[in-house]
Amino acid sequence: MKSYNMPKITKKSDTTLLGEKSDLYKLYETDQAITWCAGCGNYPIQNALKRALTLENFGIKDILFVFEIGCNGNGSDKIGGYTFHGLHGRAISAAAGASLANPKLKVIASGGDGATMSEGINHLIHAVRSNYPMMFIHHNNLNYALTTGQASSTTKRGFPMNSSPEGVLIDPINPTEFVLGLNPTFVARSFSGDIKHMTKVMREALKHKGFAYVEILQVCPTYNKATSQKWYLDRVKYTDGLKGYKPNNIEKAKKLSHDMDNEIYLGVLYKKEDQPNFYERLTYRKDLQTTPVQEVNHYPINDLLNEFK
Ligand code: SF4
Repeated sequence: MKSYNMPKITKKSDTTLLGEKSDLYKLYETDQAITWCAGCGNYPIQNALKRALTLENFGIKDILFVFEIGCNGNGSDKIGGYTFHGLHGRAISAAAGASLANPKLKVIASGGDGATMSEGINHLIHAVRSNYPMMFIHHNNLNYALTTGQASSTTKRGFPMNSSPEGVLIDPINPTEFVLGLNPTFVARSFSGDIKHMTKVMREALKHKGFAYVEILQVCPTYNKATSQKWYLDRVKYTDGLKGYKPNNIEKAKKLSHDMDNEIYLGVLYKKEDQPNFYERLTYRKDLQTTPVQEVNHYPINDLLNEFK
């Protein structure tokens, strides 16, 4: 996708701090007050996203960011561009609609583990099946952080949380392994403690034309003391370090994604580029030059609104 009247990234800036010093990067920054805790994984995640967009030369008018309720959702005013801050667990459904209404936009949704693996899990399942043309950043900090540290579907069994001080009684869902069971077209996992790796993975996801699922293992130093930055650093491994690993074998990807306790693999685990996305499957739109959003009739609504005065 071409940027919209935006400065291009030169080769020189491409090598400086992964794009952070470029003019394009600065357009993604805002002057809104920071509300995240010190040490929160949301800072590096959003930084990596801005770098990835910059390095892929997306202008701020090329993108729609869709957020939901949660700590990650509070990033909606901390990134420049078009943003929609919707309901808890419903970021994917809103983003899917937007991506089909205007397929010229790159739509990027963000959601937490609490909402996505519980209230919104149906949306995740059907978005993967449908291969909607969008990217989904799944912030997995293993708890409902905004509401002060309750266990989510990804909290590890036995961990004491505010809603379960004796320890969680049931086993967690492994999100990446779960998505790999849904016949996806792009699945990646990264870690909030490695900005360069997140940037690399997000750049790959931005190039994917279907549903690009990116799980980010995120530290939450305020409410999740058990999986700290050090805990992850002691365990993460990279598919890049696996000799001959190619992300084209879903059974290998499933095996690699399984372990979340000892050797946690990060990287683009699986991708399948030859599948049409949902919009491309709409054969009746094949020869149309317009997008659905351009075809909407505009009605004056003042008369309607006046009825309620
Ligand atoms: Fe980040 Fe956790 Fe604080 Fe939320 S509660 S802002 S996830 S550190």
